[in-house]
Amino acid sequence: MVDKLFGLVSYDLGIDLGTANTLVLVRGKGIIIREPSVVAMQRKTKRVIAVGGDAKKMVGRTPANILAISPLSDGVIADFDATAAMLRHYIGKIHTLPGTFFKIPRPRVVVGIPSGVTEVERRAVQEAAMNAGARKAYLIEEPMAAAIGVGINIDDSRGSMIVDIGGGTSEMAVVALGGIVINKSIRMAGKEMDAAIINFLRLKNGLLIGERTAEEIKIGIGSADGKAAGEKYAVIRGRDLETGLPKSLRVSAGEIQEALSPVLNQIVDMIKNLIEETPPELVADIMERGMVLAGGGSLLPGIDKFIAEATKMPVWVTEEPMAAVVRGCGKVLENDTLLHRVRVTGGLR
Ligand code: ADP
Ligand code: MG
Repeated sequence: MVDKLFGLVSYDLGIDLGTANTLVLVRGKGIIIREPSVVAMQRKTKRVIAVGGDAKKMVGRTPANILAISPLSDGVIADFDATAAMLRHYIGKIHTLPGTFFKIPRPRVVVGIPSGVTEVERRAVQEAAMNAGARKAYLIEEPMAAAIGVGINIDDSRGSMIVDIGGGTSEMAVVALGGIVINKSIRMAGKEMDAAIINFLRLKNGLLIGERTAEEIKIGIGSADGKAAGEKYAVIRGRDLETGLPKSLRVSAGEIQEALSPVLNQIVDMIKNLIEETPPELVADIMERGMVLAGGGSLLPGIDKFIAEATKMPVWVTEEPMAAVVRGCGKVLENDTLLHRVRVTGGLR
């Protein structure tokens, strides 16, 4: 027990508060929590009933007195109480020894937050982390955390570009000399892809499906270009819009790619805008070194090639893209200079 206690003493945390997933990394241990960013609470009292995977299972099935919400749905803090509850849940889990009332020393916490978060929300998140048991809480904008996480040397004078396609938002940034030179965020990412599949099947086939089914189809046979789609098919079960009765339908990967293309085109347009606004010297750097894709959306087969063709830039997907932000938070914890900069400026600018 004592060993365990000493082992735990320096457990600082990195937390990626994503719109779709929350990841927690313990310094020296690696990623120990990967859960959907969902909180289920009592509608009236706001008492938290479940957090993470358990709460996600309740989405769409909750009785009237329970509310299951995604606190960061659109890349902003949509529900502050729920965000605080989530932080408390995860920090508390690590701050208290499992199965005991033992409190280990309060951790330092680096939290990755969407770049659309306002100054007021920033302070609120910081306060929530402190209330949840953090000794110190540092906030870092997700594109910066992702850049650090994928191994970009952010202090390099040459520019690098990172595109993080998450659940609710795609965040893109050009970084150089330790700061974000330019960035954009668009509410066009994984969830919009799911919505596009739902709409496509409704309009083309008169079939009604839910969000979870749409996400499964996307992950199963979705792709960004026809060739990557290959000859895959999926049998989809839903409700016939005309009869109201269950119906199943065979759809091809090609059709799903067609469904996804408007969303992908909007993401590409935003990337092009960002490139247009980037100083020419930095564009030349990115031409040479390529842009890096991170986030769950970058797992869509062929998306790298699709973006490369549209932008005429080399594009590559980082290893384990869904972990880029939390790994970046972890690297900041291990680097006092970076940590100091986050602390002083509240945002590595
Ligand atoms: P966030 O940072 O916003 O929490 P993530 O980076 O965790 O988001 O990515 C979540 C999104 O990635 C979800 O919309 C999910 O459907 C999508 N996703 C996960 N795996 C795949 C895959 N293999 N292909 C396409 N999209 C995927
Ligand atoms: Mg993210």
